[in-house]
Amino acid sequence: MLQTKKISSVELTQTFLGRIAQHNPNINAYIALDEAKSLAQAKAADALIAAGKAEPLTGIPIAQKDIFCAKDWPTTCGSKMLANFVAPYDAHVITQFDAVGAVNLGKTNMDEFAMGSSNETSYFGGVKNPWDTERVPGGSSGGSAAAVAARLCAAATGTDTGGSIRQPASLCGFTGLKPTYGVVSRYGMIAFASSLDQAGPMAKSAEDCALMMNVMAGFDERDSTSLNREKEDYTRDLAKPLQGLRVGLPKEFFAEGLDAGVGKVIDEAIAAYKKLGAEIVEISLPNTGLSIPVYYVLAPAEASSNLSRYDGVRYGHRTAEYSDLMDMYCKSRAEGFGAEVKRRILIGTYVLSAGYYDAYYLKAQQIRRLIAEDFVEAFKQCDVIMGPAAPSTAFKAGEKVDDPVAMYLQDIYTISTNLAGLPGMSVPAGFSNGLPVGLQIIGNYFDEARMLNVAHQYQQVTDWHLQMPQGIE
Ligand code: GLN
Repeated sequence: MLQTKKISSVELTQTFLGRIAQHNPNINAYIALDEAKSLAQAKAADALIAAGKAEPLTGIPIAQKDIFCAKDWPTTCGSKMLANFVAPYDAHVITQFDAVGAVNLGKTNMDEFAMGSSNETSYFGGVKNPWDTERVPGGSSGGSAAAVAARLCAAATGTDTGGSIRQPASLCGFTGLKPTYGVVSRYGMIAFASSLDQAGPMAKSAEDCALMMNVMAGFDERDSTSLNREKEDYTRDLAKPLQGLRVGLPKEFFAEGLDAGVGKVIDEAIAAYKKLGAEIVEISLPNTGLSIPVYYVLAPAEASSNLSRYDGVRYGHRTAEYSDLMDMYCKSRAEGFGAEVKRRILIGTYVLSAGYYDAYYLKAQQIRRLIAEDFVEAFKQCDVIMGPAAPSTAFKAGEKVDDPVAMYLQDIYTISTNLAGLPGMSVPAGFSNGLPVGLQIIGNYFDEARMLNVAHQYQQVTDWHLQMPQGIE
């Protein structure tokens, strides 16, 4: 419609801003809006379109997870620690969207420093799941998730350290992709666990995710883990038939702990793939059960190091009254961080301490390698791996806040791909008791285009991804 000038980017942006004004007070998906800035970008996009210089995402309003620094925008990472922080520069991802003339519609709510699976650790309050507002949207990219599900944006960005794109995609019923580690630059993306963090698209369809990937992916010399690979067109394989595709089903993903209603939806999705010509192969990822314990040694270790920069000196929260420098550090951090972040810092510093490093951190790194090798073996037998993205549908707000381990288990099917650096996605596959269920597709390294093809072909014969929650039309 933008290209045929049936609508302008200014009108489109106004439409979304209107929907946000109507629904955000209830949903709490956005924590920063700036109408003037968004509309100025929309106007500039309209000029590009008029000049015939439009690219696929020119003029498209995108919601940005508040983990990305965006120049002159508040950038809080969901924390009191950064509640007063206005970013002085753009993250690489933001620069990339600016370069194609996309519109930044606002910054979205998230679990504090991306630690959580329900968005309930945010300093700015929880986010409601648009499918049932008593339930959580998942996390940590909960604001982006609710914004996509409630159509409060055309698409959004998220980050996924252990499941934070795929688990909310499953709980809110949209398509989300975590790319291969190193494909999207982490420059300007506030660090949680640097060896696991990866940004990716959250959108209605696989096709939209492919268009987002075309903008987000690419080499950036400012991130030492950014991979210098040739630019890809992620839409290139969307139309390929799936005849002969080998789909691996890891038996560990269908064992105890999987909700029966979710399991049924996944079985039906697999049946649909068989009809599309896929061959099913039973595989095993024997170390799956170790992925959560390994992650909860490594991610807190990296977090404790990354979060040491918040000392009240250079930027972020500083306590009002203190006696000396040490007192200032202690009080600023005690006041600025929430309980989950403190828990991670304590665990992280413990596992890195001289007496325990070998027993915990080193051991976890060794098991991380075994988990990655499980996938190497599995991909000898299949092209993609499928299973559930999350063990349950959206749960009630408050249900798991006092039980961190139950919360951690939300990522049982997603976390091993982060440990291995592999790409994974969640695709809407149906409903259980009226709540969305996501099918997870895991690909080999750099196989995003194939995964998007596999998802897109399914979306040609199903309409789960087009369904909308009631009451927010
Ligand atoms: N839920 C996991 C955690 O709390 C993963 C979060 C993420 O992917 N950012 O750490």
